[in-house]
Amino acid sequence: MTAAACARRLAGALLLVFLARAPGAWAADAASASNALARELLAQLIAINTTDTARGSVTAAAEAMAQRLRAAGFPDGDIQLLGPSAGKKNLVVRLRGTGQHKPVLLIGHLDVVEARREDWSTDPFQLIEKDGYFYGRGTLDMKGPDAIMLATLIRLKQEGFRPARDIILALTADEEGGGANGVEWLLEHHRQLIDAQFVLSGDDYSVVTENGKPLFFQLVASEKVYADFQLRVTNKGGHSSEPVPDNAIYTLTRGLDRLAAYEFPFELNAVTREYYRRLAQTESPQRAADMRAILRDPPDKEALARLSQETNDRSITRTTCVATRLDAGHANNALPQRAEAVVNCRILPGHSPEEVRQRLQQVLSDPAITVSYLASDGTLHAEAPAVRGFAPPPLLPEVLTPLDELVAETWPGLKVIPAMSAGASDATHTSAVGLPTYTFSPLTVDPNDDREHGRDERIGVASFGEANEFFYRYLRKVTER
Ligand SMILES: [Zn+2]
Repeated sequence: MTAAACARRLAGALLLVFLARAPGAWAADAASASNALARELLAQLIAINTTDTARGSVTAAAEAMAQRLRAAGFPDGDIQLLGPSAGKKNLVVRLRGTGQHKPVLLIGHLDVVEARREDWSTDPFQLIEKDGYFYGRGTLDMKGPDAIMLATLIRLKQEGFRPARDIILALTADEEGGGANGVEWLLEHHRQLIDAQFVLSGDDYSVVTENGKPLFFQLVASEKVYADFQLRVTNKGGHSSEPVPDNAIYTLTRGLDRLAAYEFPFELNAVTREYYRRLAQTESPQRAADMRAILRDPPDKEALARLSQETNDRSITRTTCVATRLDAGHANNALPQRAEAVVNCRILPGHSPEEVRQRLQQVLSDPAITVSYLASDGTLHAEAPAVRGFAPPPLLPEVLTPLDELVAETWPGLKVIPAMSAGASDATHTSAVGLPTYTFSPLTVDPNDDREHGRDERIGVASFGEANEFFYRYLRKVTER
């Protein structure tokens, strides 16, 4: 046998071995290649400091990821780097589909909150694998989800997948702070580029566990609105050796007592109704019965009172306002001329901060207590914004049904629970312009060990791989028809 014939036969044999492999093995190969890529992308993203500081640059991360996409075969024309300044560039990439439906927009922020080496047990700007976890600033919030979205897009591209709708991915600046919020800027200046039927954000973990056991899969579809108010009482004061009944501190604290005793009205919306409807299927008999009872019209008062003893249930079913700071007086031996408190409110969608300010004024029921809106820049305003928090979007079947199916397949017995978040994210911006936005990332996290913004932020290595595969399958399902 000549060397050439030998080589041909060997090649033939190899091809046979190759073709004889089960289809499952192909999928497993593709999955592990994608996991390896996701991990590489994560390591690269973590190593680029994207804090809103002199040392950080979101643009550097956006450029590095654009380079990855070009290398994976995305044409230049489908990759854009845009932003209001050189240091705040956002990356927008499009995987073209058949155009049968309007696109889906995926959003993820590239910026992270500051982390100091001396506070951490590892270097926060280096991906470290230790004890089954990936450590690094942003592993969870949210370079892990960013890497998964990128790896998925690259995998789909390399498979030659043609979705029924374009898939747009925007990786953006200044979600955590800073004055150049990428999503807001893109919506204002390049709406066409990111216009979509609905938005998927990866800015929250979904597989909620307790002591290692998955409890439910959380899909955030609504957010409460954040607002701070300043309560203030002034008084002419005087010598403390001659007290008078009209005392600024007493006036304020009597008002605060009335606020402490007050409960905002119970209210459910499309998302929280579905939340309780689904949660009732997994809860203890009494809690399940109470959940069903508050879904009735009118809701059962006793059931509501029982549920409201749980902090979480109280915050889901009502606007809440709570005193968080107190400051008064100027000398130990003087009657106070001034007493102030800060009240922090988390407002249900459909209500405005101004509506809540007026309600506070009523509840405090003392004209001596003025209630001002305390803006995020620290300025005080006689009136609060009148814009209402966006109403929760309908739970679109094209989003929810594939999620239900895939969650049941991946974690048998686990339920998708639509949820309302008490925090605020970039979903605020997309929702405000009428784009239904759903937030989930299939990472597994125990809320008691949620290290977002904290020291030694981490995600499970196994969970990261599982989430990467899950997201790939989900995005395919959502866009193949
Ligand atoms: Zn985030």
